[in-house]
Amino acid sequence: MGGNEQKYINEAFTTNWIAPLGANVDAFEKDIETYLGVSHAAVLSSGTAAIHLAMVLLDVGLGDYVIVPSFTFSATVNPVIYQGATPVLVDSEADTWNMDPVLLEKAITDCIGGKLAGMNGKGMTPKAIVPVYLYGMPPDMDRISEIAGRYGIPVVEDAAEAMGSRYKNRFAGTIGKMGVLSFNGNKIITTSGGGALVSDDQELISGAKYYATQARDKAPYYSHSRIGYNYRMSNIIAGVGRGQMEVLDQRVVQRRRINKWYRDLLADAPGISFHSEPSSDYFSNFWLTCIVIDHQKALCSRDDLLQAFEESNIEARHLWKPMHLQPVFSNCPYYVNGVSEGLFNNGLCLPSGTGMTEDDFQRIADVLRERIK
Ligand SMILES: *Cc1c(COP(=O)(O)O)cnc(C)c1O
Repeated sequence: MGGNEQKYINEAFTTNWIAPLGANVDAFEKDIETYLGVSHAAVLSSGTAAIHLAMVLLDVGLGDYVIVPSFTFSATVNPVIYQGATPVLVDSEADTWNMDPVLLEKAITDCIGGKLAGMNGKGMTPKAIVPVYLYGMPPDMDRISEIAGRYGIPVVEDAAEAMGSRYKNRFAGTIGKMGVLSFNGNKIITTSGGGALVSDDQELISGAKYYATQARDKAPYYSHSRIGYNYRMSNIIAGVGRGQMEVLDQRVVQRRRINKWYRDLLADAPGISFHSEPSSDYFSNFWLTCIVIDHQKALCSRDDLLQAFEESNIEARHLWKPMHLQPVFSNCPYYVNGVSEGLFNNGLCLPSGTGMTEDDFQRIADVLRERIK
């Protein structure tokens, strides 16, 4: 926590606004709009809810197709299934680890040409493209936007891991038609649980607020002409969000400093490569610092390093397991090039929390020096 969260929570209590509405909700939305330079924001119960509402607002339904990366967290893909649509999984490019524009275009043309399994030649344009900013790293948004524009497909940016990241000086989540943020407990800023949908399109965000509050029509009684959801963020939780916005820039500086610390420490370690910004167009919040271990050249394997961390009571993790390798998505069409599978086999997330102490860094450095340097 940054310091002022309790103050804003107390405001909710003293004004007795213990509701999914109120001054903190309005102020948190304003803070997000101002920070990102986006016209409209709706704060919600989670990032997953934000993705789901984006699908609802784009009228994604039974029989539709939505293009998503294979290398992501399952929450990117699940809302497509909630809507009865089919996710089309697209592998990563090697530098950003995010959606590969070449495979993206192939997936689109196959979908339009009716070449996906089960289409029987009856093609259709995918309803949306959902590029993800993995571990904070922006995807190649210029190429993705250009392809999406050429085929007239809306882009929903899953920037759940990327609050504060930028692509060509535009904040993650503000480039496509809509952007998704998450304030889950593990993200760079957190409200314990929460998310947001942002857009420059006023109609979309007022639509999101409508669907998020049980789709109540304008009437003096409860009248419903659509299926709604209970997805709004509460006024107490939004108080935490207001406090967190005050420390976001500081958190980005801290995460980037941690990333630099690992790079300096492992500069001459053989067989280690970092998840890196391909050029100055990319600015990652480095939510998590991730490395790939080339087991031919490195002094130990990825699994040995994970084991060594565990023995020292330090938590490090595998990278995301690609969705095309997940049992639950085994029926989804996919376009792969081996990149995400290689990352899953040889990569890991290093401890990256801003709460780490000098002593923690020392313990991590000891393991890394002993094993891979
Ligand atoms: C965390 C995350 C989400 C979901 O956000 P929640 O707030 O946890 O629902 C979606 N996509 C990605 C890539 C994430 O990391």
